[in-house]
Amino acid sequence: MGRVYNFSAGPSMLPESVLNKAAAEMLDYEGTGTSVMEMSHRSKAFQGIIDSAEALVREIYKVPDNYKVLFLQGGASTQFAAIPLNFMNGTGKADYIITGRWANQAFKEAKKYGDVVAAASSEDKTYTYIPKTTRESFRDDIDYVYYCMNNTIYGTTFKYIPDTGDIPLIADVSSCFFSEPLDISKFAMVYGGAQKNVAPAGLVIAIIREDMLGHARDYTPTMLDYKIHADNGSMYNTPPCYTIYMCKLVLEWIKSIGGLDAMKARNEAKAKILYDYLDSSKLFKGTVVKEDRSLMNVPFVIGDKDMEAKFIAEATEAGFINLKGHKTVGGMRASIYNAMPIEGVEKLVEFMKKFEEANS
Ligand SMILES: *Cc1c(COP(=O)(O)O)cnc(C)c1O
Repeated sequence: MGRVYNFSAGPSMLPESVLNKAAAEMLDYEGTGTSVMEMSHRSKAFQGIIDSAEALVREIYKVPDNYKVLFLQGGASTQFAAIPLNFMNGTGKADYIITGRWANQAFKEAKKYGDVVAAASSEDKTYTYIPKTTRESFRDDIDYVYYCMNNTIYGTTFKYIPDTGDIPLIADVSSCFFSEPLDISKFAMVYGGAQKNVAPAGLVIAIIREDMLGHARDYTPTMLDYKIHADNGSMYNTPPCYTIYMCKLVLEWIKSIGGLDAMKARNEAKAKILYDYLDSSKLFKGTVVKEDRSLMNVPFVIGDKDMEAKFIAEATEAGFINLKGHKTVGGMRASIYNAMPIEGVEKLVEFMKKFEEANS
């Protein structure tokens, strides 16, 4: 079988050129005679890899100099606890915007550590829209505001950066990482799991403003203290070396196609093909209000469970895999991250049109 179009929400597709490069370098990385998998993380060769990865993050996102770039483990989910432990240490209060499953899990975790409230939520309409917030939505005396920028399961995305005044703003960008330009200076921290858009699983990248560091609670596990990782160049312990190497290759690929402006244009063009069809189809329907639609995750339904199962089975057979929606939403979801080629979306839409003709 050749390669299929993989619409998985994560881990997800990687650019084919990146996989080819990794394959070519598998046995002998740049004349070292070893694979990156076999290298000491204290070697000169690996130091070069992690330094390049960091430099590329800084260049591609135009990260201001007063921010640290950290390569961490434990997934985005571990940061749900690390964030309050590191940052909820002034008044012990924080406000969360609840826009779906991941924001909710972060919210629940933070509640273990302090006075945490939902400043806004779209739960009333099953997270099919993004609540509008203003500075007045948030309490005055809180340590930070937290939100999830792109909601992987529900397919919504923030088209605005919440105004929090002087209050530090923290965003989970796992499923929209490096998908379009982002003004990092508006944030105290942005972070994401790499397995959606940047690398294989096993890596979290966190970009943190320096003044936020050094205030962790004294009982914070050493491995969750961001300052420890910042002071040790993300190598306090053994980092996920191979995943960091893959991240470097993906970032080189993003740079080679023109950086985040080009990536955004590509992603908009791709998403438009699918959304335009969903808007015209009599069989398939998008589930999210138009103005808050994600460029990355596109949930849609038929509304008839048997017909949906038939569609997913036939699509899989035709080489469009992982289209089944998240178990909490049902229906279908096409995740069309950076690495999904435009042909993948064009061919999926062709397939959907044929399915609609055959089943109406
Ligand atoms: C996938 C995802 C997570 C969870 O990531 P893990 O690395 O599995 O912990 C958190 N937030 C968002 C937005 C996600 O898409």
